[in-house]
Formats: sequence, C-alpha cells, structure tokens
Amino acid sequence: MADEFSLIKKYFTWEKSPISVELGVGDDAAILNTPNKKQLVTSVDTLISGVHFPKETDAHAIAHKALAVNLSDLAAMGADPAWFTLSLTLPSIDEDWLSDFSNGLKTLAEQHNIFLIGGDTSQGVLSITIQVMGFVDTGKALLRSKANHGDKIYVTGTLGDAAAGLSILQNNLHLEPEDAAECVSQLEYPQPRNAISRLIRGFASSCIDISDGMMADLQHILDTSNTGAIINTNNIPLSAALQKIDTSKALELALTGGDDYELLFTLKPIKEHQLMAIAEKRNLPITCIGTIDDGIEGIKLDPTVKLSQAGFQHFT
Ligand code: ADP
Ligand code: MG
Repeated sequence: MADEFSLIKKYFTWEKSPISVELGVGDDAAILNTPNKKQLVTSVDTLISGVHFPKETDAHAIAHKALAVNLSDLAAMGADPAWFTLSLTLPSIDEDWLSDFSNGLKTLAEQHNIFLIGGDTSQGVLSITIQVMGFVDTGKALLRSKANHGDKIYVTGTLGDAAAGLSILQNNLHLEPEDAAECVSQLEYPQPRNAISRLIRGFASSCIDISDGMMADLQHILDTSNTGAIINTNNIPLSAALQKIDTSKALELALTGGDDYELLFTLKPIKEHQLMAIAEKRNLPITCIGTIDDGIEGIKLDPTVKLSQAGFQHFT
C-alpha cells in the first residue's frame, strides 16, 4: 500500500504547471507569481461524506463537485480562476478511489485553467476541503451589496434540477429514466458558470451563485444591498424534466432547492440591450426573473407560490 508521500506524488503532483507557479506541490509551501493591477479573490469550501454528498457517490463525481462549488464562488465574484489547494481526509488509502478522484479533479481543473498548488492529507471521515484563488481587475469584483432599485434580476441555466436529482436518489421523486438521469447529473456534476461570469462581469451590478436555493441566495443580495425584490414566477426557467412535473412542485424545487450552482445577477435596465446582444450572439442561457424594488420587504412572488421551506441551512 502506498504511503502518504507517494500518493501525493502519484495523484496530486501535476505536470505542466503555469508560469505563475514558481513552486508547486512538494516543498513546505507553494511560491506563486501574482499579476500586477489585479486583486486576489479566494474562497474555501468543505464537502463531508454523508452531509454534502451521499456516502455512495463515486470518487470522480465527488472531486468534480468539490472543485465545481469553489469555481462557482469565483464565478460569482467575477474572478478568473488561477490556483487551488486540496485538503483531503481519507478513511483509508484506496488506489482505485484516488485514481478516479484525481481524474475527476484534473478534468474539471483543466477545463477551467486552475492549477493544484498544494494541500494536506490526513486520515479520518472522508472530507474534501478545496481553497480556490483567482484574480479580478482591481475594483471590478462583483459584490452582493451593489444591487439598486429598478435593477433587473437574471439567472443562468435552469433552477431546481439538482434538488430534483437529490429527491430522485432519496426515492421521493419519480421521473422517466432520461429525465431522472439528467437531474442526478446536475446534482453530481454541476457545471460552474465561469464562462458566463466573464461575459456579464462588465455589466452586472451584483452577483451571487445559487447554492442554497434561489430565494435564500437572492435574500443575501437583498440584505447586503438593503432592498427588496419582485420575482415573476412565470419566468422561472425550468428544465424539460421539471416542466413535466406538477408546476407548484417544480417551482418549489426551483425557488428553494439547493445545489444549482447557477449565477443570479442584477443589471441596470439601460444595460439590458447590451447584455441581450451578447446573450443572443453567444447563445447564453440567461433569463430575467424579476426586478429589485426598494418598496418591497424581502421577496414578493408574483404570481404567488406556496412554499414549505426557504432554502438549505446547516445548524437548524
Ligand atoms: P507538511 O508536513 O510540511 O505540511 P505535507 O507532507 O503535508 O507537508 O505536504 C507535502 C507537500 O505535498 C506540500 O507541498 C503539500 O502542499 C503537498 N500536499 C499534501 N497533500 C496534498 C494533497 N492532498 N493535494 C495536493 N498537495 C498536497
Ligand atoms: Mg501537511
């Protein structure tokens, strides 16, 4: 059985490091070359087996998701991914598992030009902590706190599919096999919206990624921007799979279900034209779902929808 150092060398010491990486995995710390006129943006997220993913999830999907949720945070800030670290707690050394895990990690990392520069490995309950680092032009990060009265509210992609996927795995929702597979794939392989982030960051007034449910995350924008919002529930984008189920159930999943990793952003109405021109040219999946409104407290759903929960939270 491999020891800790040979497994780090075999699975987590990647070739072809970018020139920004002066020294990567292998010493006591990494040495990185930072660009001029940019600000470093960093975020960390932990995924724990049985809490953030079902115990039986395969290693490839776990790795994908652990990196994807962090890339999504960079996308929400309008930052370009650069590097990440990986702190891995493993119950035991299982070479097949590690091989699948590192493949899943590397595949997504290569797609997003982000490089593994270091980490830590220990023994215990399976848990994955990834810290990402990226860059924005100084002063240009997208913040939660900058939404203004009259701004239009947009989301990327469709909402609620990952939550539907979880319900399917838990046997609480039954869809045709193809639709079910699509929803489970959204849950296990969320595709972070970094490409769209690059296109909207010059336009958007505020931005957040949807991880805990659309309404819960929109509420963070409203809290920090000190305003309210009206959401046109007829405009909530639903996938083909969710369009086939009862509308109020589909909307409940879309409004409150977690794990979408889509972006929600706001936009001054005068910028809508420009954004729509880009959206059409690039075929961007974005939808206007409402308006920021200082006269409203919290979120007003129009037409209204009955909801049994507001979003996922730990410690409740
Ligand atoms: P130290 O005892 O100094 O913390 P480690 O043995 O933990 O050293 O790590 C040795 C090197 O391997 C460091 O460069 C560290 O960043 C890297 N490393 C350890 N675990 C991982 C991992 N899971 N993924 C990537 N790099 C790792
Ligand atoms: Mg260490």
